Amino acid sequence: MTSPLNAPVTAAPVYGDGALIVCDSLVRIFRSGPVEIQALQGLDLLVRAGEVVAIVGASGSGKSTLLGILSGLDTPSAGRALVAGRELGRLSARERLAFRRDVVGFVWQQTARNLLGYLTAVENVALPLAFAGVDRRTRERRARDLLGAMGLADLADRRPGEMSGGQQQRAAIATALANDPRVLLADEPTGELDRATGDEVFAALRKANSEFGTTVVIVTHDETVASEVQRTVAIRDGRTSTEVLRETTVDEVGASTIVAREYALIDRAGRLQLPAAYRDALELKGRVRLELEEDHVGLWPGQTPVPRPRPQAPSDSDEKRGSDA
Ligand code: ADP
Ligand code: MG
Repeated sequence: MTSPLNAPVTAAPVYGDGALIVCDSLVRIFRSGPVEIQALQGLDLLVRAGEVVAIVGASGSGKSTLLGILSGLDTPSAGRALVAGRELGRLSARERLAFRRDVVGFVWQQTARNLLGYLTAVENVALPLAFAGVDRRTRERRARDLLGAMGLADLADRRPGEMSGGQQQRAAIATALANDPRVLLADEPTGELDRATGDEVFAALRKANSEFGTTVVIVTHDETVASEVQRTVAIRDGRTSTEVLRETTVDEVGASTIVAREYALIDRAGRLQLPAAYRDALELKGRVRLELEEDHVGLWPGQTPVPRPRPQAPSDSDEKRGSDA
C-alpha cells in the first residue's frame, strides 16, 4: 500500500528539461576599468537536439558573447548555460577541455582562424582526432570522408592558402565535425564571402545537420540564411526578443508554401519586448493599457480614453442581460 509518504516523487518540471542547449537568465558582464558592459542581460534560449537555429541581431547585441559561452571559451557572470547536460559555468579545467574537444565544434567568420595554414585540409581535419587519441589510419580515413561530405574530396591535400574562402570554410566545418560533436556553433561563417559562396557554406552546415544529426546554431547577418532555417531567434540588447518559425503547409492541390510567423517571447519574469515596428505604428510607449480577453491579450496606447463601462440609463436588452448577474 502506498501512503502519501512513500508515494513516487514527481519532480516539478525544470526549465529547459529535455533541451540540448539551455540558457537560463544568462548574464555576461565585461569590465574594463570603471566601465561595465552588460553583453548578455538575462538571456533565455532553448534549442532542441537536431534543430538548425539562426541567431540574428544588430552588431553589439551579444551574439558572439553567447556563442563564446556555449563553446566553453568564456563563462557566464550569472545565470546558467547547459549544453548536452554540462553546466558550462561549473566545469573544471579538464572537463572544459573535454567539452570543447568532444561536445561542440566551432566555425569562425575569419577563415584564417579556423584552419592551420601550414597543414593540408586533411591534416587539419585529422588534428582534433589525434588529440582525441584516434589512430593514424582511422584519422586519415575519417578526415577524407568528412572532406568528401563537404564536397572537398579533390582538395584534401591542399593547404588553406591554395583554397578559396568558401572551400576553406567547408574544410573548417569538416574540422569542427571531426570528433562528431553534438553541437556545431558558427559565428557569421558566411560573413566574408559573396552570396554564391556563402550559400555553399550554408548548404554544408545544413548537410552537417541532415547527414550527421548535428544540432547547428548559426549567427548570421545573411538574410537568405535567416530565411531558410526553420527557426530564427533575434537578440536585442543581450536578450532574446523575437523568434520567427517557418512551417511548410500543403494546400488541397498539393502545393506547399512556407509560412513564416513571428513570435514575441515572454521571459521567465513575464517581460515581453514589443517589436519596434509595432511600437512606432501605434506610438506605444510608457504606460499602455492591457486587457485580458478569452483567448488573447489586448494592448492599447495609454492615452486612449478608456470606454465607459456602462451607460447611465440601461436599455431593455441591457436589463435582461443584467438580470442573470
Ligand atoms: P555581436 O556579436 O552581437 O556583435 P558581441 O557579443 O561581440 O556582439 O558584443 C556585445 C557587447 O559586449 C558589445 O558592446 C561589445 O563591445 C562588448 N564586448 C564583447 N566582448 C568584450 C570583451 N572581451 N571586453 C569588453 N567588452 C566586450
Ligand atoms: Mg559578433
